[in-house]
Amino acid sequence: MEQPHVIVHPLPVQGHIKPMLCLAQLLSEAGLYTTFLITHHAQKRMANFPALTTQFPNIHFEFISDGFPDDHPRDVNSGFFSDIKIKTKPHFKQFLLSLKKKSENGFSPPVTCIIADGYVVYSFEVAEELRLPTFTFVSHGACFLQAYHSIPLLIQQCHLPFRDDNINYQIQCVPGLEGLLRRKNLPPVCLLNLEADNPSFQEHLKDILGMKRSSGVIINTFNDLEVQCLPHVATHFQKFYTVGPLHAFLNSKIGNDSHLVASHASLWKAEKKCIAWLDSQPLRSVLYVSFGTLARRSISQLLEFWHGLVDSGHRFLWVVRPDVILEEEGENVIIPEQLQVGAKENGYIVDWAPQEQVLAHNAVGGFLTHCGWNSILESIIARIPMICWPHTNDQNINTDLVCKVLKIGIELEAFNRSSVKSTVETLMGSKRKALQKSVDKFANCAQDGIGHGGSSNHNLEMLVTDIKKIKT
Ligand code: UDP
Repeated sequence: MEQPHVIVHPLPVQGHIKPMLCLAQLLSEAGLYTTFLITHHAQKRMANFPALTTQFPNIHFEFISDGFPDDHPRDVNSGFFSDIKIKTKPHFKQFLLSLKKKSENGFSPPVTCIIADGYVVYSFEVAEELRLPTFTFVSHGACFLQAYHSIPLLIQQCHLPFRDDNINYQIQCVPGLEGLLRRKNLPPVCLLNLEADNPSFQEHLKDILGMKRSSGVIINTFNDLEVQCLPHVATHFQKFYTVGPLHAFLNSKIGNDSHLVASHASLWKAEKKCIAWLDSQPLRSVLYVSFGTLARRSISQLLEFWHGLVDSGHRFLWVVRPDVILEEEGENVIIPEQLQVGAKENGYIVDWAPQEQVLAHNAVGGFLTHCGWNSILESIIARIPMICWPHTNDQNINTDLVCKVLKIGIELEAFNRSSVKSTVETLMGSKRKALQKSVDKFANCAQDGIGHGGSSNHNLEMLVTDIKKIKT
């Protein structure tokens, strides 16, 4: 029998490439012929790409054009994420057709199925045209997925569009999201408050909810993390596989403490000097601060933050990405000395950190995060309690999950220096013990899940079995 062949195709951004690469490697280890398809642009940006191919010799890396000119900003504000649907689609289709020829000529097994990122909607359209089965990969948590899939119910029950401005209003009618669904936690498209029959709202819904048609949904979470929501969200799909945390799953298979394999899939070059700085800091004394890969802030916000951190008196390691500063401030913006890369009085600033390695360092005692899903999973695995400062997308619902349900973090309630100061003091001081206890509990559950006989481990096996059953 021919080796089953899966194409794994992520959205070309950091928070999606990394978990999907982890999944690709796990599938390849399970005996599947695995092709990892990314855009040329993403590949060029991957700081250590050549090393990755050596590290994952059994993955077949392939590249397509994203259809945009080289100098396109490819960011949230440029329309990139909606335009890929049209621009990248023909390149994806062309790739599959040429792969078909290759396999007819015996160069690779025929494609069994496509595992596509839920946001790469063209993959599903092309796969349907070419009659190839698909699985959807979800890089955020199950709660946000449930929020997306509750939109038709919310329209039906007249919760959408909103009739007033109270974005903290609690919606109670969604199974599995009781106490978690403030209006502001809904997917951003809902916050535009469009009428239900608005064509662009309808199209967005059709794209996202279209994942129901795929053979199954694979999600980077674990059963004990979203207990309340998982049984409900699973009902939307033919099959539902919780396989996370994927970075820890992969590290546990082929890594060890000093070699975090998953962390190598990075679009930025990590500043390793900060590890030497951490080496000289006392145990659990440092707050690690990062706003993820897409969030942008104004200089005045960043400076306010700076003062809060310094006033807290706690040590900090802060990632200030070069592109974090909001464009409105002008292209020739001068970064204030405080925010420039390097060692500071009580802290250290980097433009990109080896995050997994930082979180695993014993000098780190807390993580101030924008609450991106990967960051949460990485923090849990490293047993680090969090301060949550959400910005957009899934980050608001993630914050409520972390702070209200799991109790492994606290929210930064207001944005000013005194609030930053007092919240840092609380996390690193009085609340530390209680939060640590909870985070330890979930870290243990996560490790059990990816271990032998655990739920994520079992679900990955099920996925592989289901893929092997597909007839080409
Ligand atoms: N990350 C990193 N170094 C940094 C900042 C972030 O390696 O300085 C990685 C982090 O480990 C995580 C990913 O970037 O895997 C961010 O993903 P997340 O889902 O948390 O945030 P988003 O990409 O949505 O901003």
